[in-house]
Amino acid sequence: MPTPSEQLSTAKMASCLELKQGILYHMRYTLALRAEQASHRDWWLCLSLAVRDRIIDDMVLTQTRHNEDNVRRLYYLSMEYLMGRMLVNNVHNVRVFEEAQQAISELGLSWHEVCDEEMDMGLGNGGLGRLAACFLDSLATLDLPAVGYGIYYEFGLFKQDFHHGKQVEHPDTWINYGTPWELIRPEYAQTIQFYGRVEASYDSFGNYHPRWVDTKNVLGIPHDIPVAGYDTKTVNFLRLWSSRSTEDFDLDEFNKGDYVEAVRSKAIGETISKVLYPNDKNENGKELRLVQQYFFVACSLADIMRRFERNNGSDWDQLPEKAAIQLNDTHPAIAVVELMRILVDDKRLHWDHAWSLVTRIFAYTNHTLLPEALETWSVGLFEKVLPRHLQLIYEINYRFMEQVEQRWPGRDDIKTELSIIQEGQHKMVRMAHLAVVGSHKVNGVAALHSELLKTDLFARFHEFYPDKLTNKTNGITPRRWLLNCNLGLGQLFEQYGIEKDWPKNLERLRKLEEFAEDEDFQLAFMAIKHQNKQRLADVIQAECGVEVDPNAMFDVQIKRLHEYKRQHLSLLNILTLYHRLLNDPDLDIVPRVFIFGAKAAPGYALAKTIIHAINAVADVINNDQRIRGKLKVVFLPNYRVSLAAKIIPAADLSEQISTAGKEASGTGNMKLALNGALTIGTLDGANVEIKEEVGDDNIFIFGLQVDDVQALDRHGYNPYDYYHGDEELKNALDWLCSGYFCPHEPHAFDDIRTTLLEHGDRFKVLADYRAYIDCQERVSEAYRDQSRWAKMAILNTARMAKFSSDRTIQEYADEIWHLPACPIA
Ligand SMILES: *Cc1c(COP(=O)(O)O)cnc(C)c1O
Repeated sequence: MPTPSEQLSTAKMASCLELKQGILYHMRYTLALRAEQASHRDWWLCLSLAVRDRIIDDMVLTQTRHNEDNVRRLYYLSMEYLMGRMLVNNVHNVRVFEEAQQAISELGLSWHEVCDEEMDMGLGNGGLGRLAACFLDSLATLDLPAVGYGIYYEFGLFKQDFHHGKQVEHPDTWINYGTPWELIRPEYAQTIQFYGRVEASYDSFGNYHPRWVDTKNVLGIPHDIPVAGYDTKTVNFLRLWSSRSTEDFDLDEFNKGDYVEAVRSKAIGETISKVLYPNDKNENGKELRLVQQYFFVACSLADIMRRFERNNGSDWDQLPEKAAIQLNDTHPAIAVVELMRILVDDKRLHWDHAWSLVTRIFAYTNHTLLPEALETWSVGLFEKVLPRHLQLIYEINYRFMEQVEQRWPGRDDIKTELSIIQEGQHKMVRMAHLAVVGSHKVNGVAALHSELLKTDLFARFHEFYPDKLTNKTNGITPRRWLLNCNLGLGQLFEQYGIEKDWPKNLERLRKLEEFAEDEDFQLAFMAIKHQNKQRLADVIQAECGVEVDPNAMFDVQIKRLHEYKRQHLSLLNILTLYHRLLNDPDLDIVPRVFIFGAKAAPGYALAKTIIHAINAVADVINNDQRIRGKLKVVFLPNYRVSLAAKIIPAADLSEQISTAGKEASGTGNMKLALNGALTIGTLDGANVEIKEEVGDDNIFIFGLQVDDVQALDRHGYNPYDYYHGDEELKNALDWLCSGYFCPHEPHAFDDIRTTLLEHGDRFKVLADYRAYIDCQERVSEAYRDQSRWAKMAILNTARMAKFSSDRTIQEYADEIWHLPACPIA
């Protein structure tokens, strides 16, 4: 292969020189260091700053244009953004990849060592936060005017490591040394109120206008992260709010003359944005979480109103023309109420006028049907933290209930079902109901999920608002999840004449279908996979101290640890194969490396037990000479975006084995298939649509379907029937819980057994076991025929265009936001 310098055109040489000068400029004038003193981290910082300078030029251009043209904007409200590393992505998006590599090489440095210095920006838990990050990339790439709003967590998702196989959490100190990717904007700070009480009062016309008084106040400071589109001049930004105390945070304490107590209580203001709650799909009802939600929503709406009033004065009827707001799950749903408060209390609009504006502005994305994930807040907590908002919710609900009465006179049962307030011993505010009532569109995130919203979770709402529910199948950005992470495959596309614009036009890959049976292409495709596997094998050796063979099948399950995702089903398969091998050492099985990556919520005991169990089984299997390395099991610690980018290009098999009806979409499934991994999966979430796209012959589907799961639930599912009816299953589960794999703590895994047997196996692990084992046999048979496997893998990569987040965002823009593009000259 030619070295980069031989390939660089004159224009790129100039650009490379400019970058190098930028790097050295920042080394001297930003870090005040001589090059000889600089660490890899210093070089990473200076390269980032040099790249940032270019992005800022286009950001100023973009924002000037958006403001001068007073464009319609999309505001994306999300509590989570799982951005990962920014440098490599930005270098690709602004098209200076080769130049940057060359500059780093000319400075005598290693590209990978410099890039590996970057801490992930891990301000999210999993799929929901990563979706927000992919959407920002697509919005900018499609030249759509948009601002993302969220929280600037001082500590993102915890860092995970294992002690004797058990998860241990450590704080994520990503911000310790600051980040080059933020621009702090104190001039746009906002003051936000909490707590206090509502006082009745009348204006000078004798009209009732309640006042929210005696509040505690905090300051929100914007940290702007530029978001550069791929191969375009558009640079949008993500505005993240950090909290600071105001002097009047607790006036009471100051007035009492207790200076020290008053300053101490100021610290409470600073805790709001301190840490991301590490729960994925499980709400915990903590006061600080509600405070976080209102804090970032109130800052964001005040910012949106400031921008609107600057350009449009108080022409409120223009508000829905200038602003579309998307709620990423119900976490920011309080925004519906906050905008009513602003319009009715502050701007003095009539209720009906305000409500008609609000309901034209908001749209809501639902991300789950799991009841434990649906947010409710106790009325008591609401009254304490946001007393005025509780009154407004009651008013919204009163008027909504009147409409329900008109539609279904006398049907109190339907009112109870639809009410925003859940009655009962502890009255609760149902945030999903608030979001549905306050939005003009509500979408699910895959076809199957959106259908289930209509028939299950929101069935009655669907009767009431027949045009509100819709589908927007999730997607992933092909920039991060193919161009950045799989350079080898990108080069192969070029050799085979795939148009160069494939990263923003994923349909281009369909041309690969022509080569699916071409032997040379198959070999080249599989050679790249092999290189990627070798690189991952090095990571595994470094991280886990386990040697794995890149010729073995890499069987990958990477996602949050959750019972519904069923990592323990894969563990039962591993135990079954291990058992078979021990009883027949000559058994001719396809060698496999099982690769896991997953964080468990710190309070989710069973999820932590499953991690411990996988690690314990791994330790026994990896050290058992009798099976001659035919099976290896590795659990890579600290699964995160940058680790995903190393695992995904090296995967042969993608495990997407959730209980049918429980995974709303999944996006890991899309990343893996795009990189040529074959899916073994249930008919759940977007797996259904992946199957439609790649074809039945190029995916491994098994197990219960949604109807089957529902039938089992209706007619009484008895996991013992499966346990007693399947000798291999019984053996695997008994063996796991026998103490054999953890002699020092023989009962360590008892809870897994208890959940699957005595507690009724809510996620049908035992019911799907046999179908899964049999399907894995079919996978192994396919892998033995490397040419057949290569063809299937190629067809997966070739047929993933639908799952580009560019397609998803264009659908949102056309059908929900009605948002025109604004190309920057
Ligand atoms: C894509 C991604 C996820 C979501 O994975 P699923 O398999 O869809 O649950 C979670 N975490 C990270 C770091 C990701 O990149």
